[in-house]
Amino acid sequence: MSCHFKTLVRLILVIFISSFFLSPALFSTHKIDKEYTQKILDYTTEKFFLTELVDHLPASETVPSPQKVLGTIIGAPNILHYTAEINKYMEAVAEASPRVEVFSIGLSDEGKEMIAVAVSDEKNIQRIKRIKEILALLADPRQIKDSQAEILIKEGVPIYWITGAMHSPECGSPEMLMELVYRLAVDDSDFFQTIRHNMIILITPVLEVDGRDRYVDTYLYKKEHKDKKTLPLVYWGNYVGHDNNRDAIGLALKLSENILKTYFEWHPTVMHDLHESVPFLYTSTGTGPYNAWLDPITINEWQELAYAEISEMTKRGVPGVWTHGFFDGWAPSYSIYAAMLHNSVGRFYETFGGTGADTLVRTVGAQSKRAWYRPNPPLKAVKWSFRNNVNLQQSALLFALKHVADNQIKFLKEFYLKSKRSVAKATTEGPAAWIIPKEEGKFLAVADLVNLLRKHGVEVCQATKDFTINKEKYPSGSYIIRLDQPYSRCADMLLDTQYYNPNDPRPYDDTGWTLGPLFNIKTVRIMNQKILDVPMTLVTQDVKIKGKVIREKNAICFVINHTTQNPLFKFRYQLKDIKMLAAETSFKAAEKKFRAGSFIIPLQSNPPQTVDHLKKAVEEIGLVAYGLKSIPKVKSHNLAVPRIAILHTWLSTQNEGWYRLAFEKLDIPYSYISLQDIRDTEDLKSKYDVILFPPVMFGKAQRIVNGISGDSPLPWKKSDKYPNLGGPDSTDDIRGGIELQGILHLQQFIKKGGLFIPITSNVSLPIDYGLVESVAVVKPKKLKTAGAILRARISDRTSPITYGYGPELGVHFNGAPLLETGIKAATGGIDIEALISGDSKGRASGRGSLKDPDVIQGRPYKPPKIKGAGTGIPAEYREMLKLFMPPDLAKIRVVLRFDRQEKLLISGLLAGGEELQNRAAVVDVPLGKGHIIFFAINPMWRFETKGSFFLLFNAFLNYDNLDAGRPKPKNEK
Ligand SMILES: [Zn+2]
Repeated sequence: MSCHFKTLVRLILVIFISSFFLSPALFSTHKIDKEYTQKILDYTTEKFFLTELVDHLPASETVPSPQKVLGTIIGAPNILHYTAEINKYMEAVAEASPRVEVFSIGLSDEGKEMIAVAVSDEKNIQRIKRIKEILALLADPRQIKDSQAEILIKEGVPIYWITGAMHSPECGSPEMLMELVYRLAVDDSDFFQTIRHNMIILITPVLEVDGRDRYVDTYLYKKEHKDKKTLPLVYWGNYVGHDNNRDAIGLALKLSENILKTYFEWHPTVMHDLHESVPFLYTSTGTGPYNAWLDPITINEWQELAYAEISEMTKRGVPGVWTHGFFDGWAPSYSIYAAMLHNSVGRFYETFGGTGADTLVRTVGAQSKRAWYRPNPPLKAVKWSFRNNVNLQQSALLFALKHVADNQIKFLKEFYLKSKRSVAKATTEGPAAWIIPKEEGKFLAVADLVNLLRKHGVEVCQATKDFTINKEKYPSGSYIIRLDQPYSRCADMLLDTQYYNPNDPRPYDDTGWTLGPLFNIKTVRIMNQKILDVPMTLVTQDVKIKGKVIREKNAICFVINHTTQNPLFKFRYQLKDIKMLAAETSFKAAEKKFRAGSFIIPLQSNPPQTVDHLKKAVEEIGLVAYGLKSIPKVKSHNLAVPRIAILHTWLSTQNEGWYRLAFEKLDIPYSYISLQDIRDTEDLKSKYDVILFPPVMFGKAQRIVNGISGDSPLPWKKSDKYPNLGGPDSTDDIRGGIELQGILHLQQFIKKGGLFIPITSNVSLPIDYGLVESVAVVKPKKLKTAGAILRARISDRTSPITYGYGPELGVHFNGAPLLETGIKAATGGIDIEALISGDSKGRASGRGSLKDPDVIQGRPYKPPKIKGAGTGIPAEYREMLKLFMPPDLAKIRVVLRFDRQEKLLISGLLAGGEELQNRAAVVDVPLGKGHIIFFAINPMWRFETKGSFFLLFNAFLNYDNLDAGRPKPKNEK
């Protein structure tokens, strides 16, 4: 103890002395804002959480300090600002300073403005347009010669883009960024002049503008209701919470679109996202495995910048600034991949946050331990203030800015070099190209992928003739993504397969993301450089497929082939008043083969204007409808347009947000209901046909039943005082769960013909509460996988859930749950037959093989089975056993199974796959007139798993005919 104390005293002395020599506050000839400076010192808990860059505030006659506009200094205890206030401050600085300009970068999903603030010296601000041009040219070396590049590099400056508050409860960065803008605009020391002269700093104070304002409301609510439980941040943005930083592949959120649009407008050399969680300042590199598609130059730049910061901060005696641990560096789903997918550097901090702007004593766990990568670890316990967080983020950032400013030429040269090496990729490491073949029945899915790649800035071409490469023929119209382009790494990273060694450090997030299998379309990796000579043209606008009606004349019905393209689901809802049928098997008509599940639209039973509506819808959506002169001879049933409810908890709304988003992108109407609505609604079937229950984070059945506890109501709704609370759903009280009463309502709903679909962890609800017996969840013993793409096989081709699918499919699986089905599930894993017959160890040693019978010597051979005898169970037990058999045993259908072990892995991490092989991935269990469908996989994950969406859509459209194709069990009437 005393030893620690002495060290601490020595440390403080060293810091005091060193800061004495370093501090411009004491020696600078520039004026400082004394009142502000004193408050900085007051609000910082320890001297060693200050550096000479932030231990004072320079005064300005013209530019308003944050205190002047906002009333308090930045990092004051208990003070947080709304987005509008932050934007207002940035505008005020821009108004007053020729070194600052504010730009709008778009609106959020809820319509709030996101901004970028540019800070530099007056000269750079005046020539922003030219600097943008220069960086755009360096980004595409095909347009310039090396000699021109050299001139441009001297003329241009790097842009360093800092983004804050992606994660709403991590609330220090927007505050800090206001002060940083002020400092960068007014401080005239050499340090700041160099930064301004040599670069443009672009600052987006709040990325998640919707969530920021909600968070500030919850914080103020907490301050005012100290006696109450903390109000959780139920919603951040309109759709997702923390996963807003996992959308850089799917690009489904407005926030991601705005980030990417801003990237392409500015081509920032570095993008730096500010997060809070790790003590005291973690600067990103990661444990590895690092993303294998990035240019190693980028990875070296991670290290260079991280160590520039660590070194400067450590020299000044700041404890706990470190790198290497915490995160892996593997997946490209983080927002900083807007930069990384396009040859810029992406990086992030995690600083020690806290609860809002509180000051409190905090303890540090394992991260206070010294390690080779953390020679100067955080302290074990510390009194931590909001201002400390502001100091650390701001100081380290300024050192990073200074490092890039001092090395401006090097960073621009490396950016240009990386862009060149990306263009050369086709002929150096390869592949030369990717092909997305023209695939009959998949035009829309292919267009969707092509458009996504184009959104990422990838150039996509289309073959103008049929061609052959590597002895494979591809039709004209197939898409070719040449990898001799600046964004070749982006295309290759998104289309290639991933291998994550199970012995590597624990993955931080998803380990696989290959888009071809996830979209359920074919993609081909081509090493052969001859592909680059195939005649092709560049696709210059988004691919839009115009649909059509074929053989309209004299048709008495129309057929649309079911190939699991998602807009087909939209089509059903768009023509909801028109009667349609689903073919129960595949069939041939008009010399064309139609898959099981194909839509049949008979004119006779429909209103006269049906053809017009049909034409309009197929043309707009991009489908092909074939007119037939007779109704196809195939068994069919009615295609429903069910009333769908998406069920959410108040515990976590994150994962269901991806479901809402997918529904809304397809214009599918749905009701959005909470567990409490189920609890309080006796007759659910009168309101809904389908209840979909997307995954709940940390959800287990008991938590879903009991929900949030507490003595007094916890309202989640908008009020005059808290205008940002509420959101997609609101309530007077978030306490409670579905309760036992709700389970009964759910059971009644299903028995009356409703469909209930629990996804991943939620499968435990109907299992644990006895709605089914022949499905169980078992604990994995060997399996190790995380966010991987695995191969699954359709195992019941007649189930409507599998309509339109081919034999296999790439699915997203996160390691749980493992489903057990059948007798073992019903008996808790016991093999009853073996138990009763005592025959658990298989046949006796003897002659023959497993199937070829043993023959006892010296007596005539008798087969072991005689007529009337069961398998292994003595006849006298069999009748009695029937009493204990679960009622659903003979009725369950496993419609999708994980593939054999050797075929299982498509992308990501997988070990112990034998535990997963042939295991059920989707199971349909009838209950009364309705059904429960269990999903072990997540069919709607982060807008990436578009090829699995139709497993759900099929279930919806056929919810009242899910028994179609099921062989009747012997005892069923
Ligand atoms: Zn974060």
